[in-house]
Amino acid sequence: MLAKLQQIVQRVNAAADLQDALEIIVHRVKSAMEADVCSVYVRARDTAQYVLMATDGLNPGAVGKIRMAPGEGIVGLVAARQEPVNLADAAEHPGYRHFPETGEQRFSGFLAVPIVHFRQSVGVLVVQQETKRMFAEDEVAFLVTIGAQLAATLGFAALGRVIAPDVPGPSGPIGLIQGLPGAPGVTIGTIVLPSPLAELDAVADRATDGAAQEEARFRRAIRETQQELRASADRMEGRLSDETRAIFDVYILILGQDDLLEGVVARIRRGSWAPAALRDTIAEYARMFEESEDPYVRARAEDIRAIGRRILLRLVSDVTAVRQYPSDTVLLGDEVSLARVADVPPGQLRGIVCLRGSVVSHTAVLAHGLGIPAVMGLGPRNVTALDGHPIIVDGYRGRVFIDPLPAAVRAYRRVVQHEGQLSARLAGLRDLEAKTSDDVHVGLGLNVSLLTDIDVAANLGIDEVGLYRSEFPFMARETFPMEQEQYETYRKVLQAFAPKPVTMRTLDIGGDKPLSYFPTTEENPSLGWRGIRLTLDRPDIFLPQLRAMLRASAGLNNLRILFPMIGQIDEIKAARRAVDRARGELLEEGCECAPPPIGAMVEVPSALLSIPALSRHVDFFSVGTNDLAQYLLAVDRNNPNVARLYDPLDPAVIRALYGAIRDARRCGRPVSVCGEMAADPGAAILLLGMGVPMLSMSASAILRIKWVIRSLSSQRAKQVLNRAMRMEGGDAVRAMLDEELKRAGLRELVLT
Ligand code: PEP
Ligand code: MG
Repeated sequence: MLAKLQQIVQRVNAAADLQDALEIIVHRVKSAMEADVCSVYVRARDTAQYVLMATDGLNPGAVGKIRMAPGEGIVGLVAARQEPVNLADAAEHPGYRHFPETGEQRFSGFLAVPIVHFRQSVGVLVVQQETKRMFAEDEVAFLVTIGAQLAATLGFAALGRVIAPDVPGPSGPIGLIQGLPGAPGVTIGTIVLPSPLAELDAVADRATDGAAQEEARFRRAIRETQQELRASADRMEGRLSDETRAIFDVYILILGQDDLLEGVVARIRRGSWAPAALRDTIAEYARMFEESEDPYVRARAEDIRAIGRRILLRLVSDVTAVRQYPSDTVLLGDEVSLARVADVPPGQLRGIVCLRGSVVSHTAVLAHGLGIPAVMGLGPRNVTALDGHPIIVDGYRGRVFIDPLPAAVRAYRRVVQHEGQLSARLAGLRDLEAKTSDDVHVGLGLNVSLLTDIDVAANLGIDEVGLYRSEFPFMARETFPMEQEQYETYRKVLQAFAPKPVTMRTLDIGGDKPLSYFPTTEENPSLGWRGIRLTLDRPDIFLPQLRAMLRASAGLNNLRILFPMIGQIDEIKAARRAVDRARGELLEEGCECAPPPIGAMVEVPSALLSIPALSRHVDFFSVGTNDLAQYLLAVDRNNPNVARLYDPLDPAVIRALYGAIRDARRCGRPVSVCGEMAADPGAAILLLGMGVPMLSMSASAILRIKWVIRSLSSQRAKQVLNRAMRMEGGDAVRAMLDEELKRAGLRELVLT
């Protein structure tokens, strides 16, 4: 049975569209169970009706015509109760509804199971038998398992209009897919599926007897790839940092190397077709780099493979025409790489949607930097048919609407308009101080990820850089940056803000922030080798970074170093020692750099409960509410299955946070909050109530939060905090904060 089950699920997952998937289900399940009928009913988007969408055994003319509301007929009953029904003779059941057009009168035995996705019945799977008999336990188990395995596929289909086009639904925003917020903002645009990169390993061996022709084809592919890369690099001019754009230069350089060219040409002349000759030459080349002792040189192997994939794409697809992008392009893909973003002409990219990833994925950070909305983590689904379809991207709520109805488009046009008005209004706050109505000043810090954030931050009136996420320049590359390159990046950041302090966090990779060129496979990555744990174990990565930061601060003296994921006192001690060692080396080399203030992120519960002990080893604290909430609630912040449980407004999180702020204050250590809570207008009221002296956030949130601060008194914020800490759930806290924002005249901030 298990083998049959796996076969069915595999076939369904490979289906071209919903209808194909449903046909596969009914034929395969009927045959596997040796039943006389198998039918599937699918919930028609937002209508409460279950529609017969495919059948093997009933009259095919009934498809699309038989529909039942929840509770209506046996199918509706199964959907409403979310329990299987197994009957020897369906007609005897009091709920039975007879539909003559199905021709089902000759069937008696009836088994129906619900298909449940995120607590909703998205469909019902039915098998029928002529004989009057109950289905056996193992048959029920089989159908239940099939239903469970298909839930995610059908769940999307039932919600998505695109692949269920024949089922009419009511008006209202439909085709909704819930993902995770990536970058804030709302856009209405056109889906563009970036062309997939070809896989070298998938190339088959093949002989050629037209070597000259193959060679010419290969040389043309090289030329085209070089041209394409130059065009991409030009398009990124001014949009990304120099070090990120340098990737393109490296690629162009590699492409021009004789070894690569000659290696491929020699193989072609020996009788191989060009793709296999390329595959073997690239593998040989990459191996040479991998054998190096130096991790940075080793990491160059990934550059070689990336370039190989690009040439292969040219070779196998013969694409010569430059792709035309609509003026409102929304890139949709599994992951949308930097190179794909660079392909879109400036001003035409309106949004990014990824099936994988989260707000901390490098794609989301790119979107932040480019100031366009992004939605991440929609989950695995087949999107190949969606090129050119209209889409609404709601980066605030992490939602997209594919093929939206006019009503949804109208509603979102109003949101876009409202955003424009709000920005104009907020611009008036630029030069005003962030202080409450009872004169309490609150520092505003900026979260910086890429160099582009620096330009966006001009004139926002920030007090400091509260968090520089140093992993992002690493993530935007395809190999480790060397010390000198890191130095140049950090120097630009420190210089841009001097004399204001800049808090640079050391590399926080691992967990949900993997580096493609430094893969780690772990059962439970969030609890694994990440942040400070990883860097302490890898001095070859850690020390060059610390040296680069310290060198960059020479003469500016505005650097503060922050360590991520501190959970134990020993970690902070070891991290401090590493700073001392790096600084000692630099002093010996004649580089004068002042000892920087050292801080610990408070984002692991053990750190939260050890503030007094940690205080003896640090100069300041920075609370990372994103991770803190995930670890306190035991909810993976990037897992769509439990996304609704991830709530930084949970009163337990608020109480814990309050304790940490209070402890830090008692220990005389400055503390700031740099997680997303600081950028949330409602949550900011709570942080004001806790007396947090510094809130750090991305540039897009600064003026909104300044508006909140200026609209309330610190006394009022304390009262709101006390109420929140006594509440029973995050939803109640959110509702109360929304009311409070409205009361303070900040209604417009409730939406965003
Ligand atoms: C946090 O965890 O709140 C934080 C600021 O760090 P990051 O989101 O980069 O993990
Ligand atoms: Mg964190």
